Amino acid sequence: MDGDASGVEDDNFEWNTEDELEINDFSLPSHSSLTPPNGEAVVGSGEALESSPQRQHHIDSDHCSLECEGNFLDDFSDIDSCSNNEKIMNTEFDEEDKLSSLVNMGYTVDEASLAIDRCGLDSSLVELTDFICAAQMAKVADAHLSELPLEVKPKLKHSCNEYAKHKKRKLSDYEMWTKKKQNEFEKRLLPDDDETIRLPHPMIGFGVPTEPCPTIHRTLPEAAIGPPFFYYENVALAPKGVWTTISRFLYDVEPEFVDSKYFCAAARKRGYVHNLPIQDRFPLLPFPPQTIHEALPLTRKWWPSWDRRTKLNCLQTVIGSAKLTQRIRKALEDYDGEPPLSVQKYVLDECRQWNLVWVGRNKVAPLEADEVEMLLGFPRNHTRGGGISRTDRYKSLGNSFQIDTVAYHLSVLKDMFPGGINLLSLFSGIGGAEVALHRLGIPLKNVVSVEISEVNRNILRCWWEETNQRGNLIDLADVQQLNGDRLEQLMSSIGGFDLVVGGSPCNNLTGSNRLHRDGLEGKESALFFDYFRILDLVKCIMTKAQ
Ligand code: SAH
Repeated sequence: MDGDASGVEDDNFEWNTEDELEINDFSLPSHSSLTPPNGEAVVGSGEALESSPQRQHHIDSDHCSLECEGNFLDDFSDIDSCSNNEKIMNTEFDEEDKLSSLVNMGYTVDEASLAIDRCGLDSSLVELTDFICAAQMAKVADAHLSELPLEVKPKLKHSCNEYAKHKKRKLSDYEMWTKKKQNEFEKRLLPDDDETIRLPHPMIGFGVPTEPCPTIHRTLPEAAIGPPFFYYENVALAPKGVWTTISRFLYDVEPEFVDSKYFCAAARKRGYVHNLPIQDRFPLLPFPPQTIHEALPLTRKWWPSWDRRTKLNCLQTVIGSAKLTQRIRKALEDYDGEPPLSVQKYVLDECRQWNLVWVGRNKVAPLEADEVEMLLGFPRNHTRGGGISRTDRYKSLGNSFQIDTVAYHLSVLKDMFPGGINLLSLFSGIGGAEVALHRLGIPLKNVVSVEISEVNRNILRCWWEETNQRGNLIDLADVQQLNGDRLEQLMSSIGGFDLVVGGSPCNNLTGSNRLHRDGLEGKESALFFDYFRILDLVKCIMTKAQ
């Protein structure tokens, strides 16, 4: 997901990299949590469409440090902890004996009485302690939930209770599941500890094809192991604590942070939480162009030697204005040869921020939508025609996956699913996941795609038809409307999902969105919890079906 209006993730803004002109040019906030731990910086500016050499004070570093926590052991610890009591499980107690046994075990008289009351006199001590554990956890979870913003709470509770309420399930299953969820939520909503997730530098995740890197082995937490496989994406540079929460909800899987500049000619720093194997990945071939000049050869002729960019910045949802490019032309026209350093710096700042490229003498221009399509790895004209406006093309492209990057991660599925896969594609956008799988040669048997924008749904539908897909594409609009009943119905008709992909909106997470950068609780970003809710339901339904 991503690419906010003016959020700039600029590798060219990394300190001590290709271009030293940038260093110290921006006033960084003194607040230490905003200081990049790895020397990377994001520059954000609300309305930088028109700016001048005196504009620097508009630019802040919005980079944030991220926190991580130790791995929590997963669920059922309450049940395990009770299993030592097996010996007494079948022993008959009368009410008084049961009450005093529970009190001797450390529970309060109120807790013990309530448990006996609710569970009945004939229940075993294990059942009673189980009930008390669950009630305690529900209390803690409720306390944490009450601290969350209003729009987030119903989502969590919904997920927590949906199966418990499901009419077809046996009561004991519901109770088990609810208890498990309560336990998970308790852990996931615990306050963060002090450790900080450091974004890797270089940002190559568990490896990229172009950089040598040591072999990494990872052990997934048991609760994370599929089926189904899952793959979640969002902006790497999110506010403090966001990735901690995402990782906690997604079964404590460590995020893989990758910058797409290691795959193509444009930067795109993203975090991916997934349970895919990481050995034996392979890249899409042919390799896409790796530098600006390889990708856009016609710009070479006009490229001044003092613009030392070799990679583009993150491709965004909006482009620089005509007024800005005109202002740049004017600023350069006064000089025959190389402009003075101050002018160079002004021009370079703007070029970096808006991904402007040289298209004539003193003439810069924003990328064409076709060029953005190509840089992101989509087929030519993927977003063109069919009634889509130019503005919408940039918007949809700016939010999409970088195909080569995502395909590299998904490549491990090819040998596993020679007959094709069933994909649940949440927040499908223009179909980044679908295109990546197709380009890998992984047949798409059934795709359930959930995307709110009609424009995007049309783009995916057109691509599906143009590529003569043999499978079925079922498109739905709103993830919030996708409940357990509908999922179960879909899954029983297609035979379950092999992969659940999603990059939920990042509008409230990106550096540039200063007004509404309120983390995962933001209106759009809270849709992450729908990703989790739906994935968890799929897991649950698949486990039941096995
Ligand atoms: N990965 C996608 C883009 C994800 S961007 C790609 O490769 O193109 C996030 C997407 O979520 C946007 O396309 C947005 O339209 C969609 N979206 C926002 N709210 C939604 C909702 N409630 N239900 C489904 N999709 C939603």
